[in-house]
Amino acid sequence: MADAPATTDVVVLGAGMSGLAMAIGLKRAGCDDFVVVEQSAGLGGTWWDNRYPGAHVDVPAPLYSFSFAPNPHWSRRFAAAPEIQAYMERCAERFGVRAHLRLGTRIVAARFDADAGRWAIETADATGRATLHARFFVCSTGPLSQPRWPAIVGLADFTGLKLHSARWDPKAIAPGMRVGVIGTGSTASQLVPPLARDAQRLHVFQRTANWVLPRLDRRYTALDRALARLPPYAWLVRRFWYHFLEWTRRGFDEGTLARKNMLHLAERHLRTQVSDEALRAKLRPNYPLGCKRIIYSNDFYPALGRPNVELVTDAVERVTPAGIVTADGRERPLDALVCATGFDTVHLLSSLEITGRDGRTLREAWADGPRAYRGVAVAGFPNLFLLLGPNTGTGHTSTLLYIEPQVRHAIACMRALRERGARWLDVRADAMAAYDAALQARLAHSVWSACRSWYRMEGGRIVALWPGFTREYVRSLARPDPRDYEFA
Ligand code: NAP
Repeated sequence: MADAPATTDVVVLGAGMSGLAMAIGLKRAGCDDFVVVEQSAGLGGTWWDNRYPGAHVDVPAPLYSFSFAPNPHWSRRFAAAPEIQAYMERCAERFGVRAHLRLGTRIVAARFDADAGRWAIETADATGRATLHARFFVCSTGPLSQPRWPAIVGLADFTGLKLHSARWDPKAIAPGMRVGVIGTGSTASQLVPPLARDAQRLHVFQRTANWVLPRLDRRYTALDRALARLPPYAWLVRRFWYHFLEWTRRGFDEGTLARKNMLHLAERHLRTQVSDEALRAKLRPNYPLGCKRIIYSNDFYPALGRPNVELVTDAVERVTPAGIVTADGRERPLDALVCATGFDTVHLLSSLEITGRDGRTLREAWADGPRAYRGVAVAGFPNLFLLLGPNTGTGHTSTLLYIEPQVRHAIACMRALRERGARWLDVRADAMAAYDAALQARLAHSVWSACRSWYRMEGGRIVALWPGFTREYVRSLARPDPRDYEFA
């Protein structure tokens, strides 16, 4: 840390997909003066954190790669986590990002100095603390970086092995254990099948049933991989999946043909994969399709039907030192308890103190929930850009399609600032408020307002999702509107 330069043009927080995209974007724009600060010991972000068995991407991999770096090596359509991590490593190598990574380092605070037009960013690593000064600060931690433990009485007293899915220890769960999994979201749907194969007994505690659709997965053959090296073929495959997934976005709107098809497919999937009528009844969702993230899986339902697996739908009442007690008073003894209970998507960036130009912190600005102009800029916080910020999540397609335009937008803003010889640029409060009001009005009548999910706050405000089609978001970011920004 002591030898590192204390001044740089751009500091990027987080070395996940969005941080990596930003670093590559800067390189491709000719900027070499930046550092990427990452608290983990390696590159990967969510793919570094989520190493639970069965972790894989839930959109087709040809679309889960950067548009400028197609990957002909995918071994299957829905690639597993280690393959994605390897792809990220290759991209870092190919675009010369590695030398810019500062791993094992946390950002603990950042304060904007309006006179200097610079951020003072306090970092901490094993050797101590340091301050970095940067003109621009890019926060790319994403909404799925802070694991959420469930608020269940007695959880702290459990004496067995306790794991959150996003902080996995591959050696912790041994075959033959009695395992409990709390949660039945996307993560649980991926880790339940491998756990079911090895556990003596697996209890899956479901609070809400989810919509499950078939995963159109298949292995890529040598021929597929050879063809994927041909740019027109790779482009065609990518376009196909892009348009297919945009079509599934229509499925979130009542009365569409896409929705009718998806509902039909979900019912058929449940009927063909679950023969036991009582189990089927427990697995039928009681909220509209699409309100929570849809699960794409071919092995979740069959795993729940195994003789050593029990789907528990009685509410979890408390955790005891030895297991879980449900509302009917029954205790299930456990050797290991896995919380696949998702992420805190509301208190974004709350682990560091970010102070803007008027001395206000981001925490204060977001007291009523996170909000940002087009998901990328927050009024009062000049020269700060968010990647995968509030309301930029997608329930239907690859998040990389949203990251790339955000990176281009941030770089265009940096360029505009330089061209004007300005010290800082800040999104206008009225532009941000108008954007947010229109967005929330649109979301208020959407399918996402009809249930509890990580897309929403307790009070109902939807903080995570972009409501429209991808092309609409991409267009809205294509060129920063100078009237929406204030330059100093
Ligand atoms: P999640 O969708 O938020 O699911 C959390 C689960 O835990 C839900 O079933 C929830 O029940 C349950 N839960 C939470 N607190 C509980 C409590 N106190 N008592 C009982 N149950 C409780 O989290 P996730 O499955 O980790 O997925 C989050 C997102 O990550 C996904 O939607 C997806 O976008 C992303 N993801 C992506 C991939 C991929 O592409 N490879 C894989 C995994 C996840 P309720 O439904 O009743 O709240």
